[in-house]
Amino acid sequence: MPSNADLCLFCRIASGAIPAKKVHEDADVVAFHDINPQAPTHVLVIPRKHISALDELTDADAATIGTTIVRATEIARELHLEQEGYRVVINNGEGAGQTVFHIHVHVLGGRAFTWPPG
Ligand code: AMP
Ligand code: ZN
Repeated sequence: MPSNADLCLFCRIASGAIPAKKVHEDADVVAFHDINPQAPTHVLVIPRKHISALDELTDADAATIGTTIVRATEIARELHLEQEGYRVVINNGEGAGQTVFHIHVHVLGGRAFTWPPG
């Protein structure tokens, strides 16, 4: 039976089976530029572990999601986004705009952001 490693777009990017413009990778997370950027800087940070959505998180995932968010802040600093501010977004479910069902943290920067978001 095909596994997430075969079927999931972001698992395939994490393994290197599909190319992406990676900005960081380590044992726990991979970060790469979004293919359809919504800001001058738009990076996605994903755990290597396949978790389909926020709604699927359990206590067993606490370290994984925590590390993913900490890495997102480190990457934002490496990309010099912290001075002007940046936005971190996780969409949960189709109604909120989730299109790829492997949890990912959007890091957006380089422009002004409005609130509430659209
Ligand atoms: P979401 O809509 O929150 O699920 O975010 C999915 C994001 O993945 C969107 O911003 C897409 O532009 C982005 N995306 C889809 N395919 C790729 C890809 N092959 N490489 C990089 N980013 C992608
Ligand atoms: Zn996956």
